[in-house]
Amino acid sequence: MGIQVMTKLKTFFKRHILWAGFIAVIVPLLSILALQYWSLLKLEKTSSVAEKVWMKNYLGDVTKEIKYFYRTNAEQTLNVPHYLISSDKPSRTIFFFNKCEVEGAKRLFVTSFKPTGESATLFFDPRDQSVLAEPLIAEARAVNVATAPLKLISEEGAAVSKADLTTDERDPENRILLKPIIDDSSKVVGVAGMIIDNDYFRDVYLPRAIHNSLPKFFPEEAQDNVIVTVHDGAGRLILSTQPVKGQDDETWSALPYFYDWRLGIRSRHMTPEQWAHSNFNFNLTLSIMMTTVLIGGIALALRAASREMRLSQMKTDFVSNVSHELRTPLSSIRVFGEFLKLGRVQESEKIREYGEYIETESRRLTQLINNILDFSRIESDRKTYQFARADVSDVVCETLRTFDVQLKQHGFKVVYEAPPPARVHLLRAVIDTDSIAQALMNLLDNAVKYSGSGREILVRLDGRDGCVTIAVTDYGVGISREEHGKIFEKFYRVSTGLVHDVKGSGLGLSLVEHIVKAHRGRVTIESEPGRGSTFTIHLPMAEDVKELRPEETTQKTVAEGDAALKLGFRN
Ligand code: ADP
Repeated sequence: MGIQVMTKLKTFFKRHILWAGFIAVIVPLLSILALQYWSLLKLEKTSSVAEKVWMKNYLGDVTKEIKYFYRTNAEQTLNVPHYLISSDKPSRTIFFFNKCEVEGAKRLFVTSFKPTGESATLFFDPRDQSVLAEPLIAEARAVNVATAPLKLISEEGAAVSKADLTTDERDPENRILLKPIIDDSSKVVGVAGMIIDNDYFRDVYLPRAIHNSLPKFFPEEAQDNVIVTVHDGAGRLILSTQPVKGQDDETWSALPYFYDWRLGIRSRHMTPEQWAHSNFNFNLTLSIMMTTVLIGGIALALRAASREMRLSQMKTDFVSNVSHELRTPLSSIRVFGEFLKLGRVQESEKIREYGEYIETESRRLTQLINNILDFSRIESDRKTYQFARADVSDVVCETLRTFDVQLKQHGFKVVYEAPPPARVHLLRAVIDTDSIAQALMNLLDNAVKYSGSGREILVRLDGRDGCVTIAVTDYGVGISREEHGKIFEKFYRVSTGLVHDVKGSGLGLSLVEHIVKAHRGRVTIESEPGRGSTFTIHLPMAEDVKELRPEETTQKTVAEGDAALKLGFRN
């Protein structure tokens, strides 16, 4: 039972191996495509979020830069030792500020808190590197407000553990960084500070920081697609890397020391969602194209493999068919030859009959071998033709005469129809007579082989519309419409129906087609199963034929007619 199932399965797979292979490749391929689709969908959703996070990271980098810049500057500049301010010698503080390189500061100042509760502030202009005799009122007010909490601590005499930097942005025009000055007992004795230069920040430092961070997050070609903007506390656009048109920032962040300002970033052409969607479309199209190309390639490869398999099967059949075709006539020839050699047949009628039989069979063998040789010449491109102007009716009559014995043996009656005398002169063409005779032989041979119980063959010759036509009709098994195209392929034989038992090589019609095509002609077929077939060879008429006058050809036609009549054909 198990073995039977296995055998059935084996036969099934052998027969449908190509389909099985095709399905085995297509199913995983389509599954991969489906998986790809789902993962691209997911990616589309996550990549827009990732793009926004990436933009946010960029803003973080810019703000970090700003913080670092001002903090480092302030730490270096404002580290005023406490003994300098208690010494009552402002010139020494100036000397200290002079030593530092201060970038981004509009003003530096130092305030000393006296034990009496008073305080004195000294303003220093870093550009001139000089002490301001007359400080600006707005600046003095801002400094007073900013230092007030530390002054309070100093008055209370509380100790502070660390002299940390603090900021005061209550006056947007005078943003202040402060550092308490503490003495050895951690008491606050004063404050050193810097007022940020807003113009320097907006015009010099901020653009530099924005541009420095761009290449770290966006490749050069992508930088064109992002616009970085800065809005001030009043919501006015004060800086943008490219002109902006109405669209909103994708994401934004506040600026350190300028907490009322807004640093934003937006896409110029595509929003992250649009970008993710276009990426999705592009990748999906690519995947579909790749799958299509793969499937196409596989289909082509499988088609070629199936052809090869069919051809190899046909070749195997060919060898067995040809062996059979050779063996049958050879054994007949041997038997009849032995009879004659041993003198077993005495009557001259019988001897003639046997002789005829041997001659016919030898001719068939010759024809078969000629077909095989010609086929091999065609395959290796060595087949040549000797074209010459000839009367096609001569070739047809000669071939019929040669074939006559074989036809008679099989009890066939051949009806030959020539055109009316008025058109006989049209039967001229430039042909290789041997090849055309061979093609006609093959058609006649087929007509005999596939006639079934029919015993009549009609051969019609005609010349019209620039063509000489030779039509061979039999009234035998016929050919179904689906086979019409295939029977001209090399080795192809119809393997079903009534023709199943008839032996042949599968080369006859492919040779006929090759020969006729070499004459720039064509072969047509009309056939219906059970009703017989008509194969027609169409050859181009010789070009000067129409110039011939009918009377020039009449005599020849009569002569040909005679020959045909002698053969028992009708005209
Ligand atoms: P074969 O040696 O098999 O006759 P051919 O190339 O001459 O090879 O013919 C190919 C196939 O076409 C044949 O096997 C046969 O099935 C079909 N065929 C050819 N001629 C006829 C015909 N006159 N009637 C029916 N079938 C034909």
